[in-house]
Amino acid sequence: MYTNFHDFDISDKVLVCLSEMGFEAPTPIQKAAIPQALKGKDIIGQAQTGTGKTAAFGIPLLEQRLSPEQRPLGQAKTGGKYPYALVLTPTRELAVQVCEELGKMGARAGVACLPVYGGQSIELQIKSLKRGVDIVVGTPGRLLDHIRRKTLVLKEIRSIVLDEADEMLNMGFIEDIKKILGEIPEERQTMLFSATMPAEILAMAKNYMKKPAHVSVDAGQMVVAKIKQVFYEVREEDKIKALTRLLDVEGPALTLVFCHTKKEVDDAAGKLQQMGYPAGALHGDFTQSHRDEMMRKFKNGEIDILVATDVAARGLDIPDVSHVINFSIPQDPEGYIHRIGRTGRAGKPGMAITLVTPRQYRQLRLIEQSAKTLIRKEKLPGKEEVKKAREDDLAAGIEETIGGGKQAAFHALADRLFEKYPPRDVAAAAMHMVLGDVNIEDIEEIKRGYDGKKDYIRLFMTIGRKDRIRVEDIVRSIAAEANIPARRIGNIALYDTFSFVEVPGDLADRVIGAVNDSIIKGRKVKIGHAKGKKK
Ligand code: ADP
Ligand code: MG
Repeated sequence: MYTNFHDFDISDKVLVCLSEMGFEAPTPIQKAAIPQALKGKDIIGQAQTGTGKTAAFGIPLLEQRLSPEQRPLGQAKTGGKYPYALVLTPTRELAVQVCEELGKMGARAGVACLPVYGGQSIELQIKSLKRGVDIVVGTPGRLLDHIRRKTLVLKEIRSIVLDEADEMLNMGFIEDIKKILGEIPEERQTMLFSATMPAEILAMAKNYMKKPAHVSVDAGQMVVAKIKQVFYEVREEDKIKALTRLLDVEGPALTLVFCHTKKEVDDAAGKLQQMGYPAGALHGDFTQSHRDEMMRKFKNGEIDILVATDVAARGLDIPDVSHVINFSIPQDPEGYIHRIGRTGRAGKPGMAITLVTPRQYRQLRLIEQSAKTLIRKEKLPGKEEVKKAREDDLAAGIEETIGGGKQAAFHALADRLFEKYPPRDVAAAAMHMVLGDVNIEDIEEIKRGYDGKKDYIRLFMTIGRKDRIRVEDIVRSIAAEANIPARRIGNIALYDTFSFVEVPGDLADRVIGAVNDSIIKGRKVKIGHAKGKKK
């Protein structure tokens, strides 16, 4: 019936924005929810993450602003009136994101939307509220704060939305939510959206909603479609190794790695960074500005691995995540669906990988059953596969170079060498110089690090990731220049423009003497004792 946004009774102003955003047709939850919500009905909506729940409630909210019979208030922007709609979200990131989406959809309707959350200056928020906004999106705690201070006036609220209601429940916001609901005028529309529907939410809905329309999209049927799901059985202590192998072999574009705890996030992200993978961490202990920075970097590809807790990643709309990796198994089927819903968005293919210890095997099968999905067991790639992936990478690079005609600058040199050697040998030698002959397992061993052996000393090197240097390049150069076994080189931490290398104390001077002023990857490198204490 509703195959097109035009089929809904919505205004041209919003239709144009939707088309500018690239929305072609409503998603299933939008088809189900929008007509009911437009009639002003209370809604209980359930659909998996990434299915477009924001627009499902957002479009009807914006329409209220546009139709004077429903809302004769209007003119918030200029008249300094009070907000007519309130959206509650579990996290600050989500508040910002929902507000952005509403802003885009309502751009032509002149709807003013304000995100309000803890961690941001309350004075700034008060100023904005005073200027007048139409829709306020916020976390329950900060909203209550504003309500108590009377800086948020609720008397004109016509609609309230509880977004990611299950998550707000998990985070213990239920009392705050009830308080807020208690303050909102009785004559209102209440909408509740959630990926899962625990009994507590339904109970609350009963008390605060009027004959709600239940709209839902079956999770089981949603998940399987576009996401390839596999799992690997690994021992706890081998997880990092498994993770890096998968990253090496899969060559994912953008990866979300999920951990249970903040500590796990810190550990995993730290290890990955140490090994030269562009990874960032996201969890509740970080400051807002750090979290914003991480999201920005992840979105524009400065880092392509984001390690996060469930809570920190919940509800975030991160586009084009190609891989979700469950570094630790999700606690329950809902968690699993939430997590893997971060990939395969908007019809794109995605891959969900779960690492499972032997003892967690049963737990995985339970998840599989309840989520009505299939998770295939696969064998962890061995060193042959890693080697092949590296070679494929190089081959792709060569093809790209030839495609761009950049090899021409070296034609003369090639001709000179061909007079002496067969072309096959020349090409293979050049490849050897790029990939090296360091054993993959040696590199992994080194990458995983000696975790700061006592007799190791930290050296500082003036070369880093921006120089397109990799851990193995450093290992190879140091081993060759100083003539020491690669295995004796300790932790290597790569940063953008410099790096730290740990070497055995008795070899430090030898390494400095041999490596200082040497050329690595075409760049003259300085090396010396790192300043400051280790750890
Ligand atoms: P949910 O709240 O269900 O997790 P979102 O509302 O965050 O999902 O939407 C996920 C992504 O899909 C967003 O990038 C959003 O802009 C996009 N999206 C939503 N509806 C549509 C649509 N009808 N067509 C195309 N993309 C859509
Ligand atoms: Mg959402």
